[in-house]
Amino acid sequence: MSEIERFDVVVVGSGPGGYVCAIRAAQLGLKTACVEKDATLGGTCLNVGCIPSKALLESSERYAAARHSLAEHGVKVSEVGFDLDVMHERRKRIVAQLTGGVELLFKKNKITRLSGMGRIASGEGGLHRVVVTGADGGERVVETSAVVIATGSVPSSLRGVTIDHQRIVDSTGALELPKVPEHLVLIGAGVIGLELGSVWARLGAKVTVLEYLERILPGVDGEIARAAERTLKAQGLDFVLGARVTGAEVQGERVVVRWLDKSEAAHEIVGDRVLVAVGRRPFTAGLGLEDVGVALDERGRVAIDDAFQTNVAGIFAIGDVTRGAMLAHKAEDEGIAVAEILAGGHGHVNYDAIPSIVYTHPEIAGVGRTEEELGEAGVPFVKGRFKYGPNGRALALGESEGMVKMLAHAETDRILGCHIIGARAGDLIAEVAVAMEFGASSEDLARSCHAHPTLSEVVREAALDCARRALHK
Ligand code: FAD
Ligand code: NAD
Repeated sequence: MSEIERFDVVVVGSGPGGYVCAIRAAQLGLKTACVEKDATLGGTCLNVGCIPSKALLESSERYAAARHSLAEHGVKVSEVGFDLDVMHERRKRIVAQLTGGVELLFKKNKITRLSGMGRIASGEGGLHRVVVTGADGGERVVETSAVVIATGSVPSSLRGVTIDHQRIVDSTGALELPKVPEHLVLIGAGVIGLELGSVWARLGAKVTVLEYLERILPGVDGEIARAAERTLKAQGLDFVLGARVTGAEVQGERVVVRWLDKSEAAHEIVGDRVLVAVGRRPFTAGLGLEDVGVALDERGRVAIDDAFQTNVAGIFAIGDVTRGAMLAHKAEDEGIAVAEILAGGHGHVNYDAIPSIVYTHPEIAGVGRTEEELGEAGVPFVKGRFKYGPNGRALALGESEGMVKMLAHAETDRILGCHIIGARAGDLIAEVAVAMEFGASSEDLARSCHAHPTLSEVVREAALDCARRALHK
């Protein structure tokens, strides 16, 4: 019998958590393998998540801009149309470029790629085994002292609504619709719903969003979410809040979606496509966790301690499969941290300074705590606000709608959170995340020189406004 190959670390899953963990581990000199069941590397994020959604958001936004905002600049476009096939081809090209890029990075860093479904099994002498079953059914077994579970998440299902991948789709299906729906009924006004709803609304679909809560974008600062709702409504998205979807039925080319309002009165709405976007759940099927005794928490996530280790020594977990925000950069940072811990260092993730962005138009971005969270926790805070309106760059861009809200501790002035709705919010939030990482006060940020004319001046003015010193208010 051939000898079982041994690695210092075997990462299961090649999403942003897994592939970044593998690269960092290899950089630190660990002999590293990464197991992936799908044909391409990069996980949800690169294949069917962040990247393809942003490609379509950008294409549809260009089309919307050509129709609605170029005239303001004096640019005349006589006939504006779009070719959906070209948009899809572009999306696929970008995905292929990035997933191929990860493959090259694996080669460059001498990471062994193991293709197939990974299952963890007990080894001898405190080692773990990972059994990899390839598409042809063949098995390869490797041995390691450290397994990192990075198996990510999959869309949550909704009782009474069967995804048929034709009329009723999840986010993956909604990225690949071959034609623009006439009426897209969206279940869930979360991040996926609003991003993909924006894509299809811009391309001409009527979009109705059914949301269980009385607000959109749970988790986003309330004032910002209300502003987003107003803006998206103006762009043609219809919201039905307080609507609990209980079922959907395909009838030929139409789908009847049933929902209950707060008083339990029953309603129906009919569309030609339905997108179910009610959250994602951790994916652990087939990993063999029961066999090796790895515990899950009450929500089916792999339970870990502060050093990312499960209840079984030598088995770690990162990213969507474990607690915390389901974000690519959170998964990446955990991947880096766990690799550094495995190499004998001190990996660490600051969960108070993880930005999140919704790529609607305008963008919505936040970092740190919301006003509601600070209120609930009884933390005394001051609020600085500044609108995009008076900012020269915003006016030049034709993007004068938006605001930045800075939240700082009332006594120490330390920045506790920042929430933005407005053009390029996703880029602006980076400076606040760095400031928070360094424990900056709103005064620190306000006293830092910001180039003129830039949108970053709005962030500075919001910081100044914490001390009621905004200059252009
Ligand atoms: P994943 O990316 O889910 O990767 C897990 C990988 O593990 C997969 O490739 C899977 O095939 C593999 N795998 C699972 N089990 C096994 C096994 N037993 N053996 C071998 N391989 C296995 N986040 C952002 O931060 N920004 C965004 O703009 C953004 N947009 C998104 C848009 C959409 C439409 C969706 C669906 C998600 C989006 N996300 C975004 C979320 C982001 O994709 C996830 O947070 C991120 O991919 C999680 O990374 P991960 O490494 O934990 O897992
Ligand atoms: P989400 O948790 O953001 O939103 C789901 C929404 O569905 C919630 O508002 C919830 O109240 C609603 N809902 C649940 N059950 C319902 C029912 N029966 N009827 C009506 N509404 C119902 O989830 P999502 O939008 O599916 O996204 C999943 C995850 O993917 C997010 O948590 C996010 O972390 C990640 N993601 C991130 C980005 C980004 O960073 N830009 C983009 C897309 C996805």
